[in-house]
Amino acid sequence: MAYQSVNPYDGKTVKTFPELTDQELEKALETASACFGSWRRTTFAERAAVVSKAAALMHARVDEFARPVTLEMGKLIDQARGEVVLSADIIEYYAKNAETFLAPQRLKPSSGEAVIESSPFGVLFGVEPWNFPYYQLARFAAPNLMAGNVVMVKHAGCVPQCALAFEDLWREAGAPAGAYTNLFISYDQVNRVIDDPRIKGVALTGSVEAGKAVAGRAGQNLKKSTMELGGSDAFIVLEDADLEKTVQWAVWGKMNNTGQCCVAAKRFIVVEAVADRFLHQFQTALAALKPGDPMDKTTTLGPLSTESALVKLLSQVKRAVAEGATLVLGGKRIDRSGAFMQPTILADIKPGNPAFREEFFGPVALFFRVKNEEEAVALANDSEFGLGGSVFTKDVARGVRVASRIDTGMVFVNHPTWTTPDLPFGGIKNSGYGRELSSLGIQEFVNKKLVRVTSIDAPA
Ligand code: NAP
Repeated sequence: MAYQSVNPYDGKTVKTFPELTDQELEKALETASACFGSWRRTTFAERAAVVSKAAALMHARVDEFARPVTLEMGKLIDQARGEVVLSADIIEYYAKNAETFLAPQRLKPSSGEAVIESSPFGVLFGVEPWNFPYYQLARFAAPNLMAGNVVMVKHAGCVPQCALAFEDLWREAGAPAGAYTNLFISYDQVNRVIDDPRIKGVALTGSVEAGKAVAGRAGQNLKKSTMELGGSDAFIVLEDADLEKTVQWAVWGKMNNTGQCCVAAKRFIVVEAVADRFLHQFQTALAALKPGDPMDKTTTLGPLSTESALVKLLSQVKRAVAEGATLVLGGKRIDRSGAFMQPTILADIKPGNPAFREEFFGPVALFFRVKNEEEAVALANDSEFGLGGSVFTKDVARGVRVASRIDTGMVFVNHPTWTTPDLPFGGIKNSGYGRELSSLGIQEFVNKKLVRVTSIDAPA
């Protein structure tokens, strides 16, 4: 069964959900398409009334929304609560700012008048991952609903209760039927939805493999897509960094969401002068994390999202070591029920080792020692990914200079890569294309239409 709540803390199946029949899917597409016909004609104020209601409902019921996240994918409960608040903030942000972001833009042509209007594309289709079960949906749904589009979403198979909670939210906020539709569908049905002429744009957040499949299908249909894919973010530590605080951020950047963030710090690139001290402190801090029930606020190490995610990660670590990497810490499954993995550090990863190029999606840190800033930048850029990254130094101007030289979508100085509603999010290379969040995220699926007025007597 593809859509299933399984608690990764104890491996128990909580609930299963049937996939839509083709007839049910057709009905959902019809409803969404009809809804677009009326939703596109609503004013910003009318749409904002619904969207800010959804934000208020989420803000009012943080615990209620947080629990299914922890239950279905094992996020520590306080982090799940944080995700709910962040998602509500994103929704509210677009309710407040969409009209300004999409205001007609008056140009100054050499003669006559010209205006760029932003009009919605139509019904959009999103394919979304489990690691932030609401945040991912909020970043897609909120800007697009405010732009006058309507959205249909295939969420990841392991978080069906979160998928349904988010759909219910829109219903309760007063969105018309078809404005937001959750689809429990198979990969074949995903392809058919992308092919359907009523679908006008496609957004995916997920792995490179899923991105290639979905972007390829969208491309065959000449439909615009955005792709938010994986990463192997560099976390650069220069010799003048505040080491104690840097190590604290290293632990957060690696272990937030048990390492299952697209922008988790994955490659720790540390200059020689501080490498030993950094590694010692980092290892000590990771080793001190305590596994336990993610519903318990005192737990500091939760399970991975699923048993299969754990098995995949363990095999990546095993292969990395077989190919010459040194296991500095961890590397094994924790001897208890549930999908728990020891916090792990791998070092001595040479370019020929598959680990050098792979994304490790979980509590596994890749440690690299470099001579200086120059080598740090070169190593950071030696990756097929380009999503986030960070640089730690007390010299902020130097940090910004280094940040400018890294080929990636986002770089933070003195902080791990993170997200707020008003900052653009997205990558380059195999990390995908397009941006979500901020004023940029709402521009992806709107028609930038030129309306030009000239004198009828103007020259050709
Ligand atoms: P995933 O396996 O690619 O799944 C993501 C979504 O795509 C799920 O809904 C999945 O459905 C669906 N999917 C996968 N293969 C498909 C196919 N061939 N056709 C149609 N749908 C398909 O990724 P994940 O393991 O859930 O998430 C982890 C990945 O996402 C990591 O690489 C991470 O870095 C990336 N990520 C990126 C961002 C970003 O903003 N750049 C944010 C979060 C995560 P099922 O669940 O039913 O298989």
